[in-house]
Amino acid sequence: MATKKEDTKSREGSPVTAHHQRQNLFEVVTAQLHKAYDAIKLESDIAAILSQPKNELIIHFPVRLKSGEVRMFKGYRVQHNNILGPYKGGVRYHQDVYLDECKALASWMTWKCALAKLPYGGGKGGVKFDPRQYDADDLERITRRFTHALGTNIGPEYDIPAPDMGTNSQTMDWMMDTYVNINSSVDRQGLKRVVTGKSIACGGSQGREAATGQGVVYCIQEWAHAKRFNLDGSTLAVQGYGNVGSNAARILSRMGVTLTAVGDHTGYYRNPEGFNPHKLADHVKRQRSLDGYPGGQKISREEFFASEVDIFVPAALELQIGSDEAKEIRAKVVVEGANGPTDTDGDRVLAERGIDIIPDILANSGGVIVSYYEWLQNKRSESWEADEVVSRLERRMRRNYQAVVDKARDLKVDYRTASYAIALERLRDVYRARGIWP
Ligand code: GLU
Repeated sequence: MATKKEDTKSREGSPVTAHHQRQNLFEVVTAQLHKAYDAIKLESDIAAILSQPKNELIIHFPVRLKSGEVRMFKGYRVQHNNILGPYKGGVRYHQDVYLDECKALASWMTWKCALAKLPYGGGKGGVKFDPRQYDADDLERITRRFTHALGTNIGPEYDIPAPDMGTNSQTMDWMMDTYVNINSSVDRQGLKRVVTGKSIACGGSQGREAATGQGVVYCIQEWAHAKRFNLDGSTLAVQGYGNVGSNAARILSRMGVTLTAVGDHTGYYRNPEGFNPHKLADHVKRQRSLDGYPGGQKISREEFFASEVDIFVPAALELQIGSDEAKEIRAKVVVEGANGPTDTDGDRVLAERGIDIIPDILANSGGVIVSYYEWLQNKRSESWEADEVVSRLERRMRRNYQAVVDKARDLKVDYRTASYAIALERLRDVYRARGIWP
């Protein structure tokens, strides 16, 4: 008889996730952190505090669907740390969402925000269901009911959700509208910044949509510059063609980088002549996946990882690069658009093979950086021009990248450990100064 897998391990199924036994995501972030604790000799009491989230919320809520049927949904919000500012991080809609995943992702938000010098802590949440199975009407009902169930566990100065996998600006508009309506206040405008990543019409920021992909590209440019590598004429593989992957590929194409391999949970494709990244994005927008894309030759997941490319951008689910994949990757650099795409063995194998890794908390921080700009604009009743947002993002990303390079050199560690070290030192300074109450 088939036994139901434990919540924390139910990870297989689609081509993107098809990979033997996967590590628990929280174990991955814990292992990464321990390397950084050692590198900066972090005090054990501060390490103990930072090793666990402050709050873990699991809620079950009923939704009456358009059909009249009432279905129960399971939602999560994990709040990892708020010593630097309100909890901040996305909301994910995916059938495989599980508690330890939210814990890991919330923890990554703490490090990402601290590394980027944003006045935020880390949080992450989600609802365990497949959004592709529901139409806009039902997605709205689920989103509003989830927001209601979260109640005062979110707030514009307390915990600020944003889009993540399976959610977008429409989801954020619904969340914002629900929050503002259930927290009736004279300050309705002020409550709007309870979420970021909203549509422009609802107070979103110019540049937020493309920000994560744009940030990935700044990292690739910095890497190329340091390595004296000419991006013009180089090749790219992207796993996952959602917001992050598609924007990175489109922006890189303007710099002469050709996308020759691409894939998502429905399959993988190769085209030595190069895909048109804009047509691919249009297809995904219409079909909600790459399935049925007419250009290119269908290849296996293994062939995809072994693609002969210069730059590899995982921008899909976590835990995609284990030791098997890491042995096959031929790229010079892996730039983590996704959160946690590389497991502990994958990390080690890539390092042994001399393949550079630009870690997630640096590479994909463009999204939360522009979320901060959105929150600031809302707070000040301002709306910045697109070029102002982009130039601020560029300056901040390039500065953060250089800080990581310098820290890696000083501590003689890899970029991932250096990124954690910077984030941890910022948090440590506050804990040292404030002490632990009482
Ligand atoms: N979900 C995105 C991330 O993982 C964005 C979070 C935000 O903007 O708050 O970084």
